[in-house]
Order: sequence, then structure tokens, then C-alpha cells
Amino acid sequence: MYEHDTIAAIATPPGQGGIAVIRISGADAERIVRQLFLPRTSWEKLHSHHFYLGKVQDQPNGRPIDQAGLILMRPPHSYTGEHIAELHLHGGSFLTRRVLEAILNQGVRLAQPGEFTKRAFLNGRLDLIQAEAVLDLIHANNETGLHLAWEDLSGRLSQTCSAIRDRLITQTAYLEAFIDFPEDDIPEHSQQELSSAFSSIRSDIETLATTFSQGKVYRDGIRTPIIGKPNVGKSSLLNLLAGTERAIVTQVPGTTRDVLEETVIVNGIPLVVRDTAGIRLATDEIEKIGIERSLSSIEQAEIILALFDLSRPFDADDALICEKIKGKKFVLVGNKSDLPQKFDVTDLLGSLDTEAPQRGDVSSKSHKAVDTFPLLHIAALYGTGIDDLGDRIREIALGKKQSGGEGEGPYKGVMITKIRHKVALEKATESLKCAEQGLATGLPLDLIAVDLRASLDHIGTITGQVSTEEILDRVFQDFCIGK
Ligand code: GDP
Repeated sequence: MYEHDTIAAIATPPGQGGIAVIRISGADAERIVRQLFLPRTSWEKLHSHHFYLGKVQDQPNGRPIDQAGLILMRPPHSYTGEHIAELHLHGGSFLTRRVLEAILNQGVRLAQPGEFTKRAFLNGRLDLIQAEAVLDLIHANNETGLHLAWEDLSGRLSQTCSAIRDRLITQTAYLEAFIDFPEDDIPEHSQQELSSAFSSIRSDIETLATTFSQGKVYRDGIRTPIIGKPNVGKSSLLNLLAGTERAIVTQVPGTTRDVLEETVIVNGIPLVVRDTAGIRLATDEIEKIGIERSLSSIEQAEIILALFDLSRPFDADDALICEKIKGKKFVLVGNKSDLPQKFDVTDLLGSLDTEAPQRGDVSSKSHKAVDTFPLLHIAALYGTGIDDLGDRIREIALGKKQSGGEGEGPYKGVMITKIRHKVALEKATESLKCAEQGLATGLPLDLIAVDLRASLDHIGTITGQVSTEEILDRVFQDFCIGK
């Protein structure tokens, strides 16, 4: 599980940059770096956690090849809990690789992806939630995702899990007291106490598990392609949402052939918005490729923004869009509300809902269809109606009407963002349910204790108090080398 050898890796991204950092961790880190770094001051005067200038010397000829900085971090106060030497080189990719090779030639092993953080976990510098949060910080692509990652790193979720664990341990001890003295039957009031404690802990675990759907939305964003026929205003809407001119806005139909992606925050919800090629019955081969990509965006979508042009009558291309979005989560958006209106919403609803009335029919069915699939009117060019669109997206994303006020957002209360945590909480809940049932049906107390301990173990896997090689592999597999 833990190889105590010395490891090294380039910690900065590949390519050229202002600086590049090589990290060495392990008992030999300081000895190794002495072979190639010549500090301006003597080695004996180097303190831990200080930055020293010096020269990096080529091996084996000793020729200076870079002016660099060195930070030594001695245990236990280092990232990994081991001796760490960090070389801050000028950021040339050849130079950096050359220095790394010289280090590896001293018998140091190239680190595995995430191995520094894994060592930090194994040495008790971080728990598993915090290790995962390191990766989240690196991958965060929006303000809220960053905030959630920071919350996890600072230990809020860890404390919540520890508190749940403590309560479970107390109940296990209480129960075990009765197991140890079998001549004493468990008194009625103690049984009731246990039962209500189990159910209260279970309810708290369940509540924590239900934060996953929101937490995931805030962390990863929602895949939201904008689809519609050519020239309906897809690029204009993306530009409006993104506040930039990233998509090419053009009047020639069918020219947005590549899928453009942008993370934008709408009403506090991060959307990974895709502006796709216009979907229509095309004959041009290149355009067909773009349309194929648009269709695959629909497949992967979490919410589709289906765009229609209010200044043109509903046509076969619009009907094709309706066909493609059926059965998915979508928002119907009518664009160009500023122009004279030629679009009939009953045509749209008729295409979406076979139950819906035909054009001109104003029966109650028509009202029902409008309620089910409201068409939001916007003018992407002028920003009109964008607030309503934001509200609708938020409502769908979070599964209920929300004002965006306090209490529901991620800044109040703890939120889980990882499926691994959710599964562990669900398993803990299941075990507790078994314990509750066991208690109610008079099962032997030692069997109930087994369920309680299982519940404890499941909670323990979240922080890593209970861990297996499989769990660690899963947690660290997505890390990059050098982290
Ligand atoms: P796409 O092909 O669906 O990406 O459509 P574009 O965003 O390229 O827009 C096509 C044309 O419609 C451009 O000339 C836009 O300026 C125009 N357009 C987009 N939105 C609006 C709108 O709300 N009102 C008006 N009047 N024109 C718009």
C-alpha cells in the first residue's frame, strides 16, 4: 500500500512557462537534491520552509545549467508528511526534463499520478475527503465549485462525518453494554432510546445524501446544449449568457459547425452551455457532421435549451427539434421576440405532444399543453427575457422553485458532491435501517451491533478512517503526476 522509497515528478503543467517545479518526496529527498543544487549559502544554514537561491548543476560534469530556487520541507510539517525538496526552475520543458532525469538517475522513482497526495493521506496529513478536495480545487471551473472544494479541504464535511460517526459509536457502545450482560434484558425505555437514536442518525445521514444532487450541479455544472435550426439565435444566446463574443455569429445558415462549449453562471447555477450546429434536414456532408454532433449533445444533455424563431413560422426543421427532445428535460425558448411574430405556439405543442390539439384549437387541452411546456419569450440580441430563462433553468436544475436566497445554497449547510460519498451514505442508511428493524423485531443484540458497525464502516470510508486499496485507487486514479 505504501512504498517508502523517494519519489519525484514535475509538479507544473507540461510545456514552457515562467517557472517549473520539481517535487521530490521521501527520506532521500534532501540528499538527492544536494547532488545537483548549489545554494548561495552553505547547506548547514538551510532551514525548513525557506526559499533559497542557488545553481542547478548538470550531471555528471557539474556544469551550471540554471539559476533556481529550493524549498526544503522537513517532516512532519510537509505536504506528504515526509522530507520534501522542491526545485523552482526556469520553465523550459527541455531544462525541466533534464533536471528530472538527473534526479531519477540518483535512484529516485518517478511518482505515480496522485502519489504525493496519497502519501499525505497515508501519513495522516489529509483525510480522504480533503485529498479529493485537492483535485476539485484543481478542476474547479466556477466560483461555486471552487467554494465547495475549499469547504471540503477545510474539513467541514469531515467534521460532519466525524460527528455522525461519534453518534454511531456512542450507540454501539450503549448496545454492547447490554450484550455484555446477557442476564439483563434490555429495558423497554432503553430500547426506545436506541430506536429513536438510530432513526435520528439515519435521518441526518439521509439528509446529507440528498444534498448530492445540488452539490453535483454546483461542482460540475449542468450540460446544457442550445439547439435549434440554423439562424434561430443559438450563438447569440450563448454570447449573451457568456458575456463574450466567443461563438461566431453569422447570418449565413448552417455555419456554426463546431460545438462550442462555455461554462456560464446563470442564476447561481453553473451551466456547461453548448452552442451546436443548427439542426435541419441538411444535404451538405460537412453540415451533416455538425448536425450529428448536435444530436449527440442532445443525448448527453441534462437540460436542453430548445430555441425557436418567433419571427418565422413553425416549420419542418422546428418539428425535427421537437422530435429529438421528446422525453428529455428541456426549456422551450422563443427567440427574436422583438420582431413581428409569425410563430404559432400550437404548432410547436402539437409536435411535442401527440395529445395536444391541432392548430387553431383553443380547447382546455391546449391550455394544459401550454402549462406543461411553457414557451419563454426572449430576444437574445437585446437580453430581453433572460431573467425568466435563468429562473426556469434554476428551477429545473435544483428540482424545485428557488429564489436563490440563503439557506438553500451551498454557503449554508454542508453539501456532498461525489457519488462515492453518496453511495457510502446510502449504504450507511441501509445498515441503520436493518439495525432499526432488528431492534423492532427482537433480533439478538449482537446481530444488531453488526449492522451498527457496518454503518460505522460505511461512514468511515468517506473520510478514509476505513480504507481499502480499491477505495484509494478509485480516489487517486484521476490525479495528475506531480500532485
Ligand atoms: P444561430 O445560427 O442559431 O447560431 O443564430 P445566430 O446567433 O448566428 O443569429 C442569427 C441572426 O439572428 C443574426 O443576424 C443575429 O443577429 C440575429 N438574432 C439573434 N437573436 C436575435 C434577436 O433576439 N432579435 C433579432 N432581431 N435578431 C436576432
